[in-house]
Amino acid sequence: MLDFLTIYIATIIFIFGTVIGSFLNVLIYRLPIGLEFVKTNSMCTNCKHRLNWYDLFPLFSWIFLGGKCRYCKSKISARYPIVEALNGAFYVLIYLFLSGGNAIEGLNLTLVGYMIVFSCLIVTAWIDFEHQIIPDSMWISIFVGGLFIVADVVIKGEFTKEFIISKIIGLFAVSGFFFLIGMLSKGAWMGGGDVKFMAAAGFVLGWKAVIVSMFFGAFAGVIFAIGRKIVSKKEMRGIIPFGPFLAIGVCLCAFVGEAIFNWYLNMFI
Ligand SMILES: [Zn+2]
Repeated sequence: MLDFLTIYIATIIFIFGTVIGSFLNVLIYRLPIGLEFVKTNSMCTNCKHRLNWYDLFPLFSWIFLGGKCRYCKSKISARYPIVEALNGAFYVLIYLFLSGGNAIEGLNLTLVGYMIVFSCLIVTAWIDFEHQIIPDSMWISIFVGGLFIVADVVIKGEFTKEFIISKIIGLFAVSGFFFLIGMLSKGAWMGGGDVKFMAAAGFVLGWKAVIVSMFFGAFAGVIFAIGRKIVSKKEMRGIIPFGPFLAIGVCLCAFVGEAIFNWYLNMFI
């Protein structure tokens, strides 16, 4: 059972997650078109009306405005509340997983590290899906998130050689394979963004979990491709970016990837 303190902290973490989520929405909108995202004021993307503080409440503003701009009544994408809620939910799940029944113990640098990683996964997935690019700032931030996790392990005195070796091999395990595919296909089947993204993810997850995440990602991509073919009546051509599905795979495997790897291995040995 969750004690009161855990629920209390989880609630604060959820609210914090939705606030960061609204910042992620800004990144998703502005990173691909190269707008400065610190100095510029928030505005409606349709009528360019400057938004007030009461228009910028995560989740609630969108709900109370019925998904429409207060000024020009144009529709505001459902992406905004989805990203905010998703980021809040991720933060809470990470916290609950790390706390393991001890409310205070879950508040550490590992939590910060995974928060950075999961937020970047959301942004990466969305931008790659819409624009077929993975911004450098995203895989660099994922790597930084990994450094937070390593720092926490060092502080706790739990640092081992196996731990860091797993992460260093993780840097190359999937990314090296992707790099090879990219080379052989002359960049047609695999882009540099995917290689760098999976290097950073491998550093966070370690080599076992990142390999599992690649299979999960490929599986999710195939499911999507088949689904799209069934749903769309006219022949859909054009490439499907791999990044969003890799991001889903990394999400699923961040905490259980290594266990899945060991379980799979044990079936044959
Ligand atoms: Zn407007």
